[in-house]
Amino acid sequence: MRIYVSKEGDTLSGISKKYGFELNDLLTLNPHIPSPEINIPGINVNFPPFKRPIADQISVPVCPFDPSSEEMLEHWIPLTSLEQMAETDYDVIIVGTGAGGGAVLRRLCERWRNNGKRIGIIERGSLLLPTHVRNIPTMNNARFGPYFRGVSKWIGKSLPEFPGARELFALGGRTLFWGMSAPRMDVSEMTGWPVTEKEMDFYYKIAEQVMDVSNGYTKGSSFQENILNRLRYNGFPEAADVPTPADLVPTNYGQIHSDVFWSSISALAYGLNRKSFDLAVNARAVEVLVEKGKTAGIKVMSLDKKPYFLKAKTVVLSGNTFETPRLLLHSGIQGRAIGHYLTNHSFLLSTVKVSRKQFPEVLGPMSVMIPQTQSRPYQIQMGGPEGYLWYQRYEQEPLQDELSIGISAFGKVESRFENQVYLDPYKRDEYGVPEIQVQFSYSEKDKAIINQMASALTQVVSAMGASFHTTDSHPPICLMPPGSDYHESVTCRMGDDPSTSATNRYGQIHGVSGLYAADNSILPSIGAANPTLTTVALSVRVADYISNQLK
Ligand SMILES: Cc1cc2nc3c(=O)[nH]c(=O)nc-3n(C[C@H](O)[C@H](O)[C@H](O)COP(=O)(O)OP(=O)(O)OC[C@H]3O[C@@H](n4cnc5c(N)ncnc54)[C@H](O)[C@@H]3O)c2cc1C
Repeated sequence: MRIYVSKEGDTLSGISKKYGFELNDLLTLNPHIPSPEINIPGINVNFPPFKRPIADQISVPVCPFDPSSEEMLEHWIPLTSLEQMAETDYDVIIVGTGAGGGAVLRRLCERWRNNGKRIGIIERGSLLLPTHVRNIPTMNNARFGPYFRGVSKWIGKSLPEFPGARELFALGGRTLFWGMSAPRMDVSEMTGWPVTEKEMDFYYKIAEQVMDVSNGYTKGSSFQENILNRLRYNGFPEAADVPTPADLVPTNYGQIHSDVFWSSISALAYGLNRKSFDLAVNARAVEVLVEKGKTAGIKVMSLDKKPYFLKAKTVVLSGNTFETPRLLLHSGIQGRAIGHYLTNHSFLLSTVKVSRKQFPEVLGPMSVMIPQTQSRPYQIQMGGPEGYLWYQRYEQEPLQDELSIGISAFGKVESRFENQVYLDPYKRDEYGVPEIQVQFSYSEKDKAIINQMASALTQVVSAMGASFHTTDSHPPICLMPPGSDYHESVTCRMGDDPSTSATNRYGQIHGVSGLYAADNSILPSIGAANPTLTTVALSVRVADYISNQLK
């Protein structure tokens, strides 16, 4: 109990008003004071432990406050447990949250809004990052590679013919780390596709909008202008800006634009604000459930290997080029082309230097490409200065006198039946699913393109006024091992003929109603362009088809 020593002029009644105590409480605790109205200078007054409720003392209403009943959200995106998902009948379940899965979800949420349809999406990995890694203030060029290697899985270790391959299991998939070159495929590449050029143009426009793709990222950079001009005047008139998915709108008027570089987390965010969906992470699809030719759902396992059966009329597999055929094959789904026609790019790397003295003081980033054309079956891309194509405003490394430029050249690889992903009959993973194995080789035509591309790369370097940077361990131009472009595609390609394609022209697995694929695996071919923009375009198209079917 607290004691107050009263002053001249104090009365118990006055103390009660001044300090907010009930007068009766004061009288009970202070029997030595005979009356509440008498002057009591220098007397010990016992105070009650609690004051009167504040509502009695002021005229402003008190806000309701009950900490125990406040709603809690434990993560930066709402999650649903697998137990709960197993109780729900879904209209659509999407497997995987990378480029393909994110695009399907975004489009379905946009089209369906509050029409009562139930969407579930499951992700094998965890909540690794809430945005593309380059949007994170602590990330820089030097930390990027080691971090990606640290969090991804080098599956190429056990794939002798595809040793460069890596998978990333996390919400957002590999779009958390991708390099964000988002060109369209050359129209010559689409000959023979089951989607017309006109329709592709329509869906490319949507994909570019979805991903904020533009040529604005390098706008105003004198380095960009300079290199473009050099290339255009020295034999490469088609040299162009690399289309880049970057939100270049500044944060203003309370609207935050912090996810500059696109990842499929942006697609999830867009969807979330238009329609609610159930998302489970650490949830690995292990089998597609099909009854009498119709999709019934998906078997999923949690991290502790507990099985759950999720019911859905429609399942969209967006696990990636390795995982989608793996699930189909493991589920006993028949199809001559499933897993076949594995296509990537042959991949040349080079680093070149240019003297900074050749350029005006105001530089800026440079990201330029020489695109594939009908007569040029490869794409050459260059970006720099090293460490400054993108960087955080907190970084403080001075530019060197010699500017370093990285060059990547991607060669077209034929989509051949014999290049394939198949189930390893001897090895299973910790979920009991057979491991994959890859059979891959370059054809004579592929090899000829690699040689052609290497000599073109030398011409490009000379046209830029640059010189090769060679060290004892690094030749001027080197061929990266298969799989290290991370562009592998086509293993469930779209087509009309079930003997040469795994899905029909809308991404539906031939012969199984309600079962779709939407990721790099459905691309009919990839030519020499980076594949992701096309994957997003075709995945949006798959979503449109599903949404029309389930009207
Ligand atoms: C470093 C790097 C740079 C790149 N640069 C470019 C570039 O500049 N331009 C370009 O076009 N492409 C680039 N790519 C490739 C690009 O990331 C891929 O083309 C694209 O992400 C493929 O999309 P996807 O949906 O097929 O697969 P992913 O994005 O890999 O997504 C698959 C998702 O499915 C999940 N999943 C897998 N199996 C299961 C399962 N059984 N159950 C539940 N979930 C599952 C995975 O965890 C993952 O989240 C780059 C990739 C990397 C790694």
